[in-house]
Amino acid sequence: MFVALVGVLGLLVGGLLRLVSETVRDHDGGGRTWGTCASCGDAHGLASAIPVVGVRRACSSCGHQPHPGRVVLDLTTAGVFALLAYRVGAAWALVPLLLFASALLAVSAVDLERFRIPDRLLFPALGAGIVLLAVFSGPGEWTGHLVPAVVGMLAYGVLLFIPNLIAPAMLGFGDVKLALLLGLFLGWMRPTVAEGLVLIIWSLVAGMLFGVLSGIVVGIGRRVFGPTFLADPDFPVAPGEDPPPIHRTAVPMGPGLALGAFTVMLFSGSILGGSGVF
Ligand SMILES: [Zn+2]
Repeated sequence: MFVALVGVLGLLVGGLLRLVSETVRDHDGGGRTWGTCASCGDAHGLASAIPVVGVRRACSSCGHQPHPGRVVLDLTTAGVFALLAYRVGAAWALVPLLLFASALLAVSAVDLERFRIPDRLLFPALGAGIVLLAVFSGPGEWTGHLVPAVVGMLAYGVLLFIPNLIAPAMLGFGDVKLALLLGLFLGWMRPTVAEGLVLIIWSLVAGMLFGVLSGIVVGIGRRVFGPTFLADPDFPVAPGEDPPPIHRTAVPMGPGLALGAFTVMLFSGSILGGSGVF
C-alpha cells in the first residue's frame, strides 16, 4: 500500500519534473518562465504538468505539442519512487532519497536533449540535498553519515575534475558539478569516509559503463530513427552527412553517471556488507 502511494506521488512529481525540465531546457533559447509554451511563449498554466495526459496537451494559442516521448519521465519517476519506497520503507531516509532521484531524473532529461547539466536545477538540488540530509539524519541513526556525505561530495567532484581538464569534450564541467550531488548521496550511504570513497569508485566505473552503453544505444537509434534522434542541438547534422561510427557516437555523460550512482547506491549494502542506508 505504502509503495503504491509513493508510486502515485512519483507520477505527480514526474509530471512536474517534465514541466520543469522543459522550461529549464529551453531557457537558453528565450528565457521562458514556468508553464509557458515552448513555441509561442503564451502561458498555459500547470495543465501540462498533469501526469501522462498532460504531455499530449497542445498549446491553446498556437497548437504546439510537446514530443509525446517525454511521457517516459512521468512513468520513470513513478517507477523509481515506488522502487525506493519498497527498498527503504516508511523511514525518514526516504525523503532526501526521493529528492535525489527527482533531481537526477530532471537533470538527465535536460542533459539528454540539450547536452547540458542545468545549473538552475543542479545547484538548488544540491542545496536542498544538503539541508534534507542534515535535517533527516539527526538526531538519529544516520547522524554519523553526514561527514562522509560532505567528503564524498568534494571527492567525487575532484575525481571528475581531472578527466575534465584532460578531455573536456568527453567529460564536460557540467558532469563535474553533477558529481558533487552524486558524491554527496553516495557518501551518505555509509558511516565511514573510506566506505563512501569505495562507493564513489564503483559509481564512476558503473557510470562510464552506462555512458558507453548509452552511446551504443543512441548510435543505433540515430541509424533507425534518423540523425536527429537525441542529437546535440548545438551541432546540427548537415543533410546527407554520414553518421560517425557507433563507437564514436557523441552522447551526454550525465545520465550514465547518474544511473551509475543510483545503481551503486541501491546495491551499496551488497557491495560493502555491514550496515548502511541500504
Ligand atoms: Zn503556443
